[in-house]
Amino acid sequence: MIKVAFLDRDGVINVDYGYVAIREQFEFIEGVFTVCRLLHNLGYELIVITNQSGIARGYYSEQDFLDLSEWMCEQFTRQGVPLLDIFYCPHHPQAAIPNYCRNCRCRKPSPGMIEQACRKYPIDLKRSMMIGDKISDMQAAKSAGVGRFYLLSKEVVAPEEIEVSARLDNLAQLKYFV
Ligand SMILES: [Mg+2]
Ligand SMILES: [Zn+2]
Repeated sequence: MIKVAFLDRDGVINVDYGYVAIREQFEFIEGVFTVCRLLHNLGYELIVITNQSGIARGYYSEQDFLDLSEWMCEQFTRQGVPLLDIFYCPHHPQAAIPNYCRNCRCRKPSPGMIEQACRKYPIDLKRSMMIGDKISDMQAAKSAGVGRFYLLSKEVVAPEEIEVSARLDNLAQLKYFV
């Protein structure tokens, strides 16, 4: 069994400028490689779990997303912290593009992407964690049964019933919780 650090993309790996689809808009968040190195050294595999409704809305194509992901993966590999995989949801219930218009189980806060990851890899969810910047990341992790989930945000306050493991002002603070 492997333990996994599930990472949201926008707002955790890169600055969330809204529907980032090209390299020129992709700005890595400070400390992301350092924290990933720490997690990697502690034995966590890194998996990205990301809602990409920009595809459903027609802001960019699935291929644009895949191209950007390939480049992003190269940057992680170069930094010595290869990503194990990326799972993404291209859907939206009110999508402009019919092919992507659905109430899916993968769009966070639903746990579908984490479930997909569990079908592909032997993941010990109880020993795994999620890092996200939205309540929906926390909800997805909680309903999938992920052991710990960290809210990376200075503004967002999670309702008590979600039982967030900790709220982080920045990624560097994660070192106090692992
Ligand atoms: Mg996010
Ligand atoms: Zn979906």
